[in-house]
Amino acid sequence: MRYDVAIVGAGPAGSSAAWFLSGSGMKVAVIERLSERFGAYHSICGGGVSRKGCSRIPLKEDEILNEVEGIRLLWPGGVATTVKAKGYILDRAKLSNRLLEESGADVIRGSVKDVWPLGGECVTALADGRTVHSRYVVGADGAFSAVRRAVFRTAPGTMTAMEEYLAEGPPGNILEFEVGQRFGGAYRWTFPCGSGRTVGSVMGALPSDTGKWLGHRFIPCGCVPEIVRGNVMLIGDAAGFPNPLTYGGLRAAFESAWEAAAAIRRGDLQSYVSWQKKSKLFDPRFSDLHDRIASMTDGNFAELSKPMNHRSLFANGLLTVVRNPRVLGVCMTCLAAIRYGW
Ligand SMILES: Cc1cc2nc3c(=O)[nH]c(=O)nc-3n(C[C@H](O)[C@H](O)[C@H](O)COP(=O)(O)OP(=O)(O)OC[C@H]3O[C@@H](n4cnc5c(N)ncnc54)[C@H](O)[C@@H]3O)c2cc1C
Repeated sequence: MRYDVAIVGAGPAGSSAAWFLSGSGMKVAVIERLSERFGAYHSICGGGVSRKGCSRIPLKEDEILNEVEGIRLLWPGGVATTVKAKGYILDRAKLSNRLLEESGADVIRGSVKDVWPLGGECVTALADGRTVHSRYVVGADGAFSAVRRAVFRTAPGTMTAMEEYLAEGPPGNILEFEVGQRFGGAYRWTFPCGSGRTVGSVMGALPSDTGKWLGHRFIPCGCVPEIVRGNVMLIGDAAGFPNPLTYGGLRAAFESAWEAAAAIRRGDLQSYVSWQKKSKLFDPRFSDLHDRIASMTDGNFAELSKPMNHRSLFANGLLTVVRNPRVLGVCMTCLAAIRYGW
Protein backbone atom coordinates (compact mmCIF):
# COMPACT_ATOMS: atom_id res chain seq x y z
CA MET A 1 0.00 0.00 0.00
CA ARG A 2 1.43 3.42 -1.01
CA TYR A 3 0.43 6.79 0.46
CA ASP A 4 1.70 10.36 0.66
CA VAL A 5 1.22 10.38 4.45
CA ALA A 6 0.84 7.55 6.96
CA ILE A 7 -0.46 8.74 10.34
CA VAL A 8 -0.01 6.29 13.20
CA GLY A 9 -2.78 6.68 15.83
CA ALA A 10 -6.33 7.98 15.44
CA GLY A 11 -6.64 9.85 18.75
CA PRO A 12 -7.06 13.63 19.00
CA ALA A 13 -3.65 14.28 17.38
CA GLY A 14 -3.84 11.71 14.57
CA SER A 15 -7.49 12.22 13.61
CA SER A 16 -7.12 16.02 13.54
CA ALA A 17 -3.89 15.75 11.48
CA ALA A 18 -5.81 13.64 8.94
CA TRP A 19 -8.63 16.19 8.96
CA PHE A 20 -6.20 19.12 8.48
CA LEU A 21 -4.68 17.29 5.49
CA SER A 22 -8.02 16.69 3.79
CA GLY A 23 -8.42 18.72 0.63
CA SER A 24 -4.63 18.81 0.11
CA GLY A 25 -4.86 16.24 -2.67
CA MET A 26 -2.58 13.95 -0.66
CA LYS A 27 -3.39 10.28 -0.17
CA VAL A 28 -3.50 9.73 3.59
CA ALA A 29 -3.68 6.54 5.67
CA VAL A 30 -4.42 6.45 9.39
CA ILE A 31 -3.24 3.31 11.18
CA GLU A 32 -5.02 2.60 14.50
CA ARG A 33 -4.49 -0.47 16.71
CA LEU A 34 -7.84 -0.27 18.57
CA SER A 35 -11.31 -0.89 17.18
CA GLU A 36 -13.90 -2.02 19.82
CA ARG A 37 -11.79 -0.66 22.70
CA PHE A 38 -11.18 2.71 21.01
CA GLY A 39 -14.08 4.42 22.84
CA ALA A 40 -13.10 3.01 26.26
CA TYR A 41 -9.43 4.05 25.84
CA HIS A 42 -10.35 7.60 24.84
CA SER A 43 -13.00 7.96 27.58
CA ILE A 44 -10.19 7.95 30.18
CA CYS A 45 -9.66 11.71 29.96
CA GLY A 46 -11.14 14.77 31.63
CA GLY A 47 -11.83 16.08 28.12
CA GLY A 48 -11.25 19.67 29.30
CA VAL A 49 -9.97 22.03 26.62
CA SER A 50 -9.99 25.81 26.35
CA ARG A 51 -11.90 27.47 23.53
CA LYS A 52 -8.60 28.61 22.08
CA GLY A 53 -7.27 25.06 22.34
CA CYS A 54 -9.77 23.67 19.86
CA SER A 55 -10.45 26.80 17.83
CA ARG A 56 -9.15 25.26 14.59
CA ILE A 57 -11.84 22.58 14.65
CA PRO A 58 -15.52 23.55 14.36
CA LEU A 59 -17.15 21.36 17.04
CA LYS A 60 -20.55 19.70 16.64
CA GLU A 61 -23.07 20.08 19.45
CA ASP A 62 -23.04 16.39 20.39
CA GLU A 63 -19.24 16.45 20.82
CA ILE A 64 -19.54 18.98 23.66
CA LEU A 65 -20.46 17.32 26.98
CA ASN A 66 -20.40 20.60 28.88
CA GLU A 67 -19.31 24.23 28.59
CA VAL A 68 -16.64 25.52 30.99
CA GLU A 69 -16.87 28.99 32.54
CA GLY A 70 -14.06 28.94 35.08
CA ILE A 71 -11.26 27.18 36.94
CA ARG A 72 -11.08 26.83 40.73
CA LEU A 73 -7.88 26.01 42.57
CA LEU A 74 -8.32 24.48 46.03
CA TRP A 75 -5.24 24.89 48.23
CA PRO A 76 -4.37 23.05 51.46
CA GLY A 77 -5.59 25.19 54.33
CA GLY A 78 -8.95 25.91 52.70
CA VAL A 79 -8.09 28.76 50.34
CA ALA A 80 -9.92 28.69 46.98
CA THR A 81 -8.99 30.77 43.92
CA THR A 82 -11.48 31.03 41.08
CA VAL A 83 -10.56 32.33 37.63
CA LYS A 84 -12.77 32.93 34.60
CA ALA A 85 -11.83 30.57 31.79
CA LYS A 86 -13.90 29.53 28.78
CA GLY A 87 -13.73 26.07 27.38
CA TYR A 88 -15.41 22.73 26.86
CA ILE A 89 -15.58 19.19 28.12
CA LEU A 90 -15.30 17.15 24.95
CA ASP A 91 -16.49 13.71 23.97
CA ARG A 92 -13.12 13.16 22.38
CA ALA A 93 -13.82 9.66 21.00
CA LYS A 94 -16.85 11.02 19.15
CA LEU A 95 -14.83 13.99 17.87
CA SER A 96 -11.91 11.81 16.71
CA ASN A 97 -14.23 9.39 14.90
CA ARG A 98 -15.99 12.24 13.12
CA LEU A 99 -12.74 13.94 12.07
CA LEU A 100 -11.41 10.63 10.79
CA GLU A 101 -14.54 9.99 8.76
CA GLU A 102 -14.66 13.51 7.31
CA SER A 103 -10.95 13.43 6.46
CA GLY A 104 -11.53 10.80 3.80
CA ALA A 105 -8.31 9.04 4.88
CA ASP A 106 -8.00 5.27 4.52
CA VAL A 107 -8.25 3.71 7.97
CA ILE A 108 -6.03 0.68 8.51
CA ARG A 109 -6.72 -1.31 11.70
CA GLY A 110 -3.55 -2.80 13.14
CA SER A 111 -0.69 -2.22 15.52
CA VAL A 112 2.46 -0.56 14.20
CA LYS A 113 5.63 -2.27 15.27
CA ASP A 114 8.42 -0.62 13.27
CA VAL A 115 9.20 2.25 10.89
CA TRP A 116 12.27 2.65 8.68
CA PRO A 117 13.43 4.70 5.68
CA LEU A 118 13.78 2.99 2.29
CA GLY A 119 15.01 4.88 -0.78
CA GLY A 120 13.29 8.23 -0.16
CA GLU A 121 10.20 6.53 1.30
CA CYS A 122 9.17 5.38 4.75
CA VAL A 123 8.06 1.84 5.45
CA THR A 124 5.65 1.30 8.34
CA ALA A 125 5.40 -2.31 9.45
CA LEU A 126 2.39 -3.69 11.30
CA ALA A 127 2.54 -6.52 13.83
CA ASP A 128 0.59 -8.79 11.46
CA GLY A 129 3.24 -8.47 8.72
CA ARG A 130 1.52 -5.88 6.50
CA THR A 131 3.57 -2.87 5.41
CA VAL A 132 2.51 0.65 4.42
CA HIS A 133 4.79 2.73 2.17
CA SER A 134 4.55 6.52 2.33
CA ARG A 135 6.50 9.70 1.72
CA TYR A 136 5.84 10.98 5.28
CA VAL A 137 5.05 9.26 8.57
CA VAL A 138 3.36 11.12 11.44
CA GLY A 139 3.70 9.46 14.85
CA ALA A 140 0.49 10.31 16.73
CA ASP A 141 0.51 7.10 18.71
CA GLY A 142 0.50 8.45 22.23
CA ALA A 143 2.64 8.08 25.34
CA PHE A 144 4.38 4.83 24.35
CA SER A 145 4.74 5.74 20.68
CA ALA A 146 6.07 2.89 18.52
CA VAL A 147 7.16 5.48 15.91
CA ARG A 148 9.21 7.34 18.54
CA ARG A 149 10.79 4.09 19.73
CA ALA A 150 11.65 2.92 16.22
CA VAL A 151 12.93 6.13 14.66
CA PHE A 152 13.94 8.55 17.43
CA ARG A 153 14.90 6.20 20.28
CA THR A 154 14.03 8.83 22.88
CA ALA A 155 11.47 9.17 25.68
CA PRO A 156 9.64 12.11 27.26
CA GLY A 157 10.99 13.48 30.56
CA THR A 158 8.29 11.91 32.75
CA MET A 159 5.41 9.45 32.49
CA THR A 160 2.69 9.87 35.12
CA ALA A 161 -0.02 7.25 35.59
CA MET A 162 -3.38 8.99 36.09
CA GLU A 163 -6.64 7.27 37.00
CA GLU A 164 -10.16 8.53 36.57
CA TYR A 165 -13.57 7.88 38.18
CA LEU A 166 -17.10 8.83 37.17
CA ALA A 167 -18.91 10.20 40.23
CA GLU A 168 -22.25 11.77 41.03
CA GLY A 169 -22.40 15.49 41.54
CA PRO A 170 -24.44 18.58 40.86
CA PRO A 171 -24.26 20.23 37.44
CA GLY A 172 -21.88 23.15 37.07
CA ASN A 173 -19.38 24.81 34.77
CA ILE A 174 -16.26 25.10 36.92
CA LEU A 175 -13.19 22.88 36.58
CA GLU A 176 -11.87 22.19 40.06
CA PHE A 177 -8.23 21.38 40.85
CA GLU A 178 -7.11 20.47 44.37
CA VAL A 179 -3.36 20.70 44.93
CA GLY A 180 -1.37 19.28 47.83
CA GLN A 181 1.65 17.20 48.71
CA ARG A 182 -0.20 13.86 48.43
CA PHE A 183 -0.55 14.43 44.66
CA GLY A 184 3.23 14.54 44.10
CA GLY A 185 3.38 17.54 41.75
CA ALA A 186 -0.04 16.78 40.23
CA TYR A 187 -3.54 17.40 41.63
CA ARG A 188 -7.05 15.99 42.00
CA TRP A 189 -9.41 17.21 39.30
CA THR A 190 -13.21 17.29 39.38
CA PHE A 191 -14.85 18.17 36.08
CA PRO A 192 -18.63 18.49 35.60
CA CYS A 193 -19.10 16.40 32.48
CA GLY A 194 -22.82 16.68 31.89
CA SER A 195 -23.72 13.27 33.36
CA GLY A 196 -22.07 13.76 36.77
CA ARG A 197 -18.41 14.49 37.42
CA THR A 198 -15.15 12.95 36.37
CA VAL A 199 -12.69 12.83 39.24
CA GLY A 200 -9.09 11.85 38.75
CA SER A 201 -5.56 12.05 40.00
CA VAL A 202 -2.26 10.19 40.11
CA MET A 203 -2.69 6.42 40.64
CA GLY A 204 -3.53 5.52 44.22
CA ALA A 205 -4.15 9.06 45.50
CA LEU A 206 -7.96 8.75 45.60
CA PRO A 207 -10.13 6.42 47.71
CA SER A 208 -11.61 3.52 45.75
CA ASP A 209 -15.18 4.62 46.64
CA THR A 210 -14.69 7.88 44.66
CA GLY A 211 -17.08 6.55 42.01
CA LYS A 212 -17.10 4.18 39.04
CA TRP A 213 -13.50 3.50 38.07
CA LEU A 214 -12.99 4.28 34.37
CA GLY A 215 -9.36 3.20 34.16
CA HIS A 216 -5.89 4.65 34.00
CA ARG A 217 -3.51 5.92 31.33
CA PHE A 218 -0.10 7.57 31.31
CA ILE A 219 0.56 11.24 30.61
CA PRO A 220 4.00 11.95 29.13
CA CYS A 221 5.51 15.37 29.90
CA GLY A 222 8.78 16.96 28.94
CA CYS A 223 9.09 17.34 25.18
CA VAL A 224 11.38 14.88 23.41
CA PRO A 225 14.58 16.50 22.06
CA GLU A 226 13.77 15.78 18.40
CA ILE A 227 10.34 15.86 16.71
CA VAL A 228 11.41 15.49 13.06
CA ARG A 229 13.90 13.02 11.65
CA GLY A 230 14.02 12.64 7.87
CA ASN A 231 10.38 12.46 6.80
CA VAL A 232 9.10 11.21 10.16
CA MET A 233 7.40 13.56 12.63
CA LEU A 234 6.01 13.25 16.15
CA ILE A 235 2.88 15.07 17.35
CA GLY A 236 0.73 15.14 20.51
CA ASP A 237 1.59 12.79 23.38
CA ALA A 238 4.09 10.91 21.20
CA ALA A 239 6.26 14.05 21.41
CA GLY A 240 5.71 14.52 25.18
CA PHE A 241 3.68 17.67 24.51
CA PRO A 242 1.21 17.72 27.49
CA ASN A 243 1.69 20.67 29.82
CA PRO A 244 3.75 19.62 32.89
CA LEU A 245 1.68 21.82 35.23
CA THR A 246 -1.88 21.19 34.04
CA TYR A 247 -1.20 17.78 32.40
CA GLY A 248 -3.52 18.98 29.63
CA GLY A 249 -2.51 17.56 26.26
CA LEU A 250 -5.53 18.09 24.01
CA ARG A 251 -4.61 21.60 22.92
CA ALA A 252 -1.02 20.59 22.14
CA ALA A 253 -2.36 17.54 20.25
CA PHE A 254 -4.63 19.70 18.06
CA GLU A 255 -2.10 22.49 17.55
CA SER A 256 0.83 20.20 16.77
CA ALA A 257 -1.41 18.33 14.30
CA TRP A 258 -2.28 21.62 12.62
CA GLU A 259 1.36 22.70 12.40
CA ALA A 260 2.58 19.29 11.22
CA ALA A 261 -0.08 19.19 8.50
CA ALA A 262 0.88 22.70 7.36
CA ALA A 263 4.57 21.70 7.22
CA ILE A 264 3.74 18.60 5.14
CA ARG A 265 1.64 20.68 2.73
CA ARG A 266 4.60 23.07 2.32
CA GLY A 267 7.05 20.19 2.00
CA ASP A 268 9.12 21.90 4.71
CA LEU A 269 9.16 19.80 7.88
CA GLN A 270 11.68 22.12 9.55
CA SER A 271 8.93 24.75 9.80
CA TYR A 272 7.24 22.40 12.29
CA VAL A 273 10.44 22.30 14.35
CA SER A 274 10.68 26.11 14.28
CA TRP A 275 7.06 26.40 15.47
CA GLN A 276 7.71 24.15 18.46
CA LYS A 277 10.84 26.08 19.44
CA LYS A 278 8.89 29.36 19.49
CA SER A 279 5.53 28.19 20.84
CA LYS A 280 4.42 29.44 24.25
CA LEU A 281 2.81 26.04 24.82
CA PHE A 282 6.23 24.58 25.63
CA ASP A 283 7.68 27.31 27.84
CA PRO A 284 10.38 25.64 30.03
CA ARG A 285 9.04 27.56 33.06
CA PHE A 286 6.18 25.03 33.22
CA SER A 287 8.59 22.14 33.87
CA ASP A 288 10.64 24.21 36.31
CA LEU A 289 7.58 25.07 38.39
CA HIS A 290 6.35 21.49 38.22
CA ASP A 291 9.64 20.28 39.74
CA ARG A 292 9.33 22.87 42.48
CA ILE A 293 5.73 21.95 43.25
CA ALA A 294 6.59 18.24 43.36
CA SER A 295 8.75 18.79 46.46
CA MET A 296 6.35 21.19 48.24
CA THR A 297 4.67 20.29 51.54
CA ASP A 298 1.07 21.22 52.37
CA GLY A 299 2.56 23.93 54.60
CA ASN A 300 4.43 25.40 51.60
CA PHE A 301 1.23 25.34 49.51
CA ALA A 302 -0.76 27.00 52.30
CA GLU A 303 1.88 29.71 52.63
CA LEU A 304 1.90 30.33 48.88
CA SER A 305 -1.89 30.54 48.67
CA LYS A 306 -2.46 32.85 51.66
CA PRO A 307 -2.88 36.04 49.60
CA MET A 308 -5.01 34.29 46.96
CA ASN A 309 -8.26 34.04 48.86
CA HIS A 310 -10.16 36.38 46.56
CA ARG A 311 -12.27 35.92 43.50
CA SER A 312 -10.14 37.75 40.95
CA LEU A 313 -6.74 36.30 40.20
CA PHE A 314 -5.58 39.54 38.59
CA ALA A 315 -6.10 41.40 41.85
CA ASN A 316 -4.66 38.44 43.76
CA GLY A 317 -1.59 38.45 41.56
CA LEU A 318 -0.94 42.14 42.14
CA LEU A 319 -1.52 41.83 45.85
CA THR A 320 0.72 38.78 46.12
CA VAL A 321 3.56 40.40 44.24
CA VAL A 322 3.40 43.56 46.31
CA ARG A 323 3.37 41.59 49.58
CA ASN A 324 5.89 38.99 48.54
CA PRO A 325 7.90 39.76 45.37
CA ARG A 326 9.51 36.29 45.42
CA VAL A 327 6.28 34.67 44.24
CA LEU A 328 6.10 36.83 41.11
CA GLY A 329 7.59 34.05 38.97
CA VAL A 330 5.19 31.46 40.39
CA CYS A 331 2.15 33.69 39.77
CA MET A 332 3.19 34.49 36.20
CA THR A 333 3.82 30.83 35.39
CA CYS A 334 0.44 29.80 36.90
CA LEU A 335 -1.29 32.46 34.82
CA ALA A 336 0.54 31.28 31.70
CA ALA A 337 -0.52 27.68 32.44
CA ILE A 338 -4.17 28.75 32.76
CA ARG A 339 -3.81 30.54 29.42
CA TYR A 340 -1.74 28.06 27.41
CA GLY A 341 -1.86 24.78 29.34
CA TRP A 342 -5.24 23.45 28.23
C1 LIG B 1 -6.75 10.33 33.02
C2 LIG B 1 -6.37 11.39 32.03
C3 LIG B 1 -7.09 12.59 31.98
C4 LIG B 1 -6.74 13.59 31.06
N1 LIG B 1 -7.49 14.72 31.00
C5 LIG B 1 -7.17 15.69 30.13
C6 LIG B 1 -7.94 16.87 30.02
O1 LIG B 1 -8.95 17.04 30.71
N2 LIG B 1 -7.57 17.83 29.13
C7 LIG B 1 -6.47 17.67 28.34
O2 LIG B 1 -6.16 18.59 27.56
N3 LIG B 1 -5.74 16.53 28.37
C8 LIG B 1 -6.06 15.54 29.24
N4 LIG B 1 -5.32 14.39 29.26
C9 LIG B 1 -4.22 14.23 28.32
C10 LIG B 1 -4.80 13.83 26.95
O3 LIG B 1 -5.59 12.69 27.13
C11 LIG B 1 -3.67 13.50 25.95
O4 LIG B 1 -2.75 14.55 25.94
C12 LIG B 1 -4.27 13.30 24.54
O5 LIG B 1 -5.02 12.14 24.54
C13 LIG B 1 -3.18 13.19 23.50
O6 LIG B 1 -3.73 12.77 22.28
P1 LIG B 1 -2.86 11.90 21.25
O7 LIG B 1 -3.71 11.73 20.06
O8 LIG B 1 -1.52 12.50 21.11
O9 LIG B 1 -2.61 10.50 21.99
P2 LIG B 1 -3.67 9.37 22.41
O10 LIG B 1 -4.93 9.99 22.84
O11 LIG B 1 -2.97 8.48 23.38
O12 LIG B 1 -3.97 8.58 21.08
C14 LIG B 1 -3.02 7.70 20.53
C15 LIG B 1 -3.73 6.73 19.60
O13 LIG B 1 -2.71 5.94 18.98
C16 LIG B 1 -3.09 4.57 19.04
N5 LIG B 1 -1.85 3.76 19.05
C17 LIG B 1 -0.96 3.67 20.05
N6 LIG B 1 0.05 2.85 19.70
C18 LIG B 1 -0.23 2.42 18.45
C19 LIG B 1 0.45 1.55 17.54
N7 LIG B 1 1.60 0.95 17.86
N8 LIG B 1 -0.11 1.32 16.33
C20 LIG B 1 -1.30 1.92 15.98
N9 LIG B 1 -1.97 2.75 16.80
C21 LIG B 1 -1.44 3.01 18.01
C22 LIG B 1 -3.89 4.45 20.33
O14 LIG B 1 -4.75 3.32 20.31
C23 LIG B 1 -4.65 5.77 20.33
O15 LIG B 1 -5.88 5.68 19.66
C24 LIG B 1 -5.65 13.39 30.18
C25 LIG B 1 -4.92 12.18 30.22
C26 LIG B 1 -5.28 11.20 31.13
C27 LIG B 1 -4.50 9.92 31.15
